[in-house]
Amino acid sequence: MGLYEGIKDVASLVQKADNIDLYRKLLDLSAQALDMQAEITRLKEENAELRKGQDLESRIIRHPENFLTIEGESEDIRYCPVCWGNEHKLIQLLLCDDDYCRFVCVNCKNNGIYDYSKRAETLRRDEGDRARLDKDSTL
Ligand SMILES: [Zn+2]
Repeated sequence: MGLYEGIKDVASLVQKADNIDLYRKLLDLSAQALDMQAEITRLKEENAELRKGQDLESRIIRHPENFLTIEGESEDIRYCPVCWGNEHKLIQLLLCDDDYCRFVCVNCKNNGIYDYSKRAETLRRDEGDRARLDKDSTL
């Protein structure tokens, strides 16, 4: 029997006893019990959210380049450590220039380089291109 049905059963018995004080006290206690029931439901939901966050926290991988990835997800999906730290929100970082490995968070503007060695390769390639262009223009 649920709380609400139990209260209804007792209320009907108390009504038959024709005791108005007892009936008022029952109504009072019923209201408190229903409030507590609502509070329990709210706390269960909050607890489920916290557990979900804790589970996520245990799967977070922090990178020295100042971004996060999630264990079991693609390494190419990077998240903002600032937003996670401040708001417990996973905000996916926007890659603003894939060749130069630059990222930015659209929420807090945290930005950086996610892969220094790939960026160095791109810069070497650019220098090679410039050197070839300079050589071509001198011919
Ligand atoms: Zn952010």
